Amino acid sequence: MAEQFDVVVIGAGPAGYHAAIRAAQLGLKTACIDAALGKDGKPALGGTCLRVGCIPSKALLDSSRQFWNMGHIFGDHGISFNDAKIDVGAMVGRKDKIVKQFTGGIAQLFKANKVAAYYGFGQLQAGNIVKVKQHDGTEVELKGTNVIIAAGSDSIELPFAKFNGDTIVDNVGALDFTEVPKRLAVIGAGVIGLELGSVWKRLGSEVIILEAMPEFLAAADAEAAKVAAKEFKKQGLDIQLGAKVSRTEVKGKEVLVTYSDASGEKTITVDKLLVAVGRRAAIKGLLAEGTGVQINERGQIAVDDHCHTGVDGVWAVGDCVRGPMLAHKGFEEGIAVAELIAGLPGHVNFDTIPWVIYTEPELAWVGKTEQQLKAEGIPYKAGSFPFAANGRAVAMSEPAGFVKVLAHAETDRILGMHMVGVNVSELVHEGVLAMEFSGSADDLARICHAHPSLSEVVHDAAMAVGKRSIHKAN
Ligand SMILES: Cc1cc2nc3c(=O)[nH]c(=O)nc-3n(C[C@H](O)[C@H](O)[C@H](O)COP(=O)(O)OP(=O)(O)OC[C@H]3O[C@@H](n4cnc5c(N)ncnc54)[C@H](O)[C@@H]3O)c2cc1C
Repeated sequence: MAEQFDVVVIGAGPAGYHAAIRAAQLGLKTACIDAALGKDGKPALGGTCLRVGCIPSKALLDSSRQFWNMGHIFGDHGISFNDAKIDVGAMVGRKDKIVKQFTGGIAQLFKANKVAAYYGFGQLQAGNIVKVKQHDGTEVELKGTNVIIAAGSDSIELPFAKFNGDTIVDNVGALDFTEVPKRLAVIGAGVIGLELGSVWKRLGSEVIILEAMPEFLAAADAEAAKVAAKEFKKQGLDIQLGAKVSRTEVKGKEVLVTYSDASGEKTITVDKLLVAVGRRAAIKGLLAEGTGVQINERGQIAVDDHCHTGVDGVWAVGDCVRGPMLAHKGFEEGIAVAELIAGLPGHVNFDTIPWVIYTEPELAWVGKTEQQLKAEGIPYKAGSFPFAANGRAVAMSEPAGFVKVLAHAETDRILGMHMVGVNVSELVHEGVLAMEFSGSADDLARICHAHPSLSEVVHDAAMAVGKRSIHKAN
């Protein structure tokens, strides 16, 4: 006999654990199943994000940034030292400790909220039954009045560059190198490639990033992408655009990577190759025959605007459905679905989802880019302000980048905000908040911002929309 729940969630990543906890808060009897094991072989909740994604990458970005600053920023402050060294084992150990703290934290939250956790692989059967193959070899069946699929995503593997866990790796391997690779090649100049490429570059690797597309960060505002590319180049990140990799060959401890660009075919030799060409929905083995759940043309679980699959009581959220593969998009979908199940008006506003790339400088944006506004024929005005003219940024030796506010030419309503610079991962939320409240550039320009603070760059950019900048010529 299957145990009956109001809600059964498959997957305890950002989307799944938010759905489960919110459902339990709303008084629904909830179970959540997750198959993942941590580095210690024990169950680890929290999904890609907590185990091998957002949090561990940020831990290494922070460690490597401290190391980089010693060589590149400390001197400005008159601080000198002899012979700085990085202990990669200690750095990775610190990252593992943070991961353990947070994955363990989800288990605690499940207990506190009375979410029943099941550790094993879940398969949806017809009739909203989920069969769980538990790690101890036993099998249980759970029946959900509602089932929320939050199975997440896996790295895409290239047929000519198969992961071997040593020389050719995905994010999992690149978060766990035991020493700084002398030469690292990265396939893909997306978020993951840029962030993990930056980590190892800052620690001393010679890094080449091979990107097949001719344009750098096509999803970002073109001006922001251009400024960021210039800064990355200054740091020595070698980003090759229009570079299509066609072959790799592992020779002992080295990898030969063959790619072609406008100037012809080239082969480079590296110690490690990180393949970061994107992720795909993790649906292998998830659906038994006859569930009625459909898969779309991108291999994702097909859902409507409310994350409903079209099968009575079956929902899907996070990376395994359409939309940006971002943890916070999954958070919001998980909460929205739990609220819809409880009869509340759950909703996710895709127009105000912030994007962040945690490089140095960081990139962040919300809303439309200038190129999108032009393509859609929307009349707009732009105001921007550089960090180089902001007292706080200069006092921090962080003058790179700018903030740009895009507002409707007639109504002044903010349509987008684009940022490159220090801590813009935090500043972007001024734009998110303003847009959620249908704010105008004038609203933002009239809001008092503390001085000196980095947020003044946002304020100055908003003032520049109305050509009334105080700190720069209009
Ligand atoms: C290196 C890296 C850095 C990233 N950095 C960021 C960042 O800074 N910010 C950001 O927003 N996003 C970031 N992301 C993306 C982010 O990690 C994902 O968008 C997010 O984890 C998706 O959440 P999810 O819950 O949909 O899926 P996942 O986090 O993938 O979780 C799905 C869970 O479901 C489990 N599961 C799957 N199928 C089954 C099954 N059949 N039975 C039982 N369990 C199952 C999996 O084991 C997994 O634990 C990063 C990703 C990577 C790889």
